[in-house]
Amino acid sequence: MDHPSITGGWFAEKNELWPGQAMTLEVEEVLFTEKSEYQDILVFKSKTYGNVLVLDGVIQCTERDEFSYQEMISFLPLNSHPNPAKVLIIGGGDGGVAREVVKHPAVKEVTQCEIDAMVVDVSKRFLPGMSKGFSNPKLSLHIGDGFEFMRKHENEFDVIITDSSDPIGPASVLYEQPYYQLMKRALRTGGVISSQGECMWLHKDIIKKVMNFCKEEYPVVDYGYTTIPTYPSGQIGFILCATSGETNFREPVTVFNSAEKEEMILKYYNEDVHRAAFALPQFAKQAIYG
Ligand code: SAM
Repeated sequence: MDHPSITGGWFAEKNELWPGQAMTLEVEEVLFTEKSEYQDILVFKSKTYGNVLVLDGVIQCTERDEFSYQEMISFLPLNSHPNPAKVLIIGGGDGGVAREVVKHPAVKEVTQCEIDAMVVDVSKRFLPGMSKGFSNPKLSLHIGDGFEFMRKHENEFDVIITDSSDPIGPASVLYEQPYYQLMKRALRTGGVISSQGECMWLHKDIIKKVMNFCKEEYPVVDYGYTTIPTYPSGQIGFILCATSGETNFREPVTVFNSAEKEEMILKYYNEDVHRAAFALPQFAKQAIYG
């Protein structure tokens, strides 16, 4: 199987969102390539990062490093809420965020809305370690547009996690102010949100724009981040917003003990990493908050 992003046995991630640079991974075997109703889907087995899911030429996750992103986008908001019983996930078609969220002892019910059924299907076939999230009894999965889904829900969720692709294509609407207004309406009192928040090395303008309109909607807005080798420039952030001025994302209200961390098979997240996620280098601090 051929794919335009693979030449000479190497996949290259070229995109206008990171001009002049490209993450490359050596390909062992192309496992799947097809165009869905929404996007170009590629799955390949890499030489050193396990299976890799690529949408519209952009890496979504690799089996080797995905835990960093999935744990952090989930536990930063979940452990900043005193009782995150009802959770909504938008996007997240690989199942990795669902896998993490259902582990949290306070979480009773998880609803997920992913636009593309084909992403869910290929993840079930080729990314079993992530897609096992879909078979948890706490989870109900809907196929549809996250923006439209949000319109129909009011005062329902404690935590909303938007695990979306980049702001090009079907996910662009998830980076605009109306979506953040709808999320605010869909939250219960004291609710919090966490959204894929792009990279401080590449997307200061996007981050600043989103945070500025978030500040018009929410009393607390913050940017935490994780490190991850296969996302552009090795870093990705999360936009965190709270409906209550008392929420402090920088200090977890729930701290897992050692037995819980072991039982939950946490590989990246712990309370120290939680606190450290908000320590920004000076250039990013100035660009985002200055
Ligand atoms: N962690 C990844 C990243 O940052 O690159 C995102 C992974 S997850 C696979 C992204 C998912 O968002 C995709 O499955 C995509 O189909 C879904 N998505 C994009 N736009 C969406 C929308 N408007 N509503 C619901 N899901 C959407």
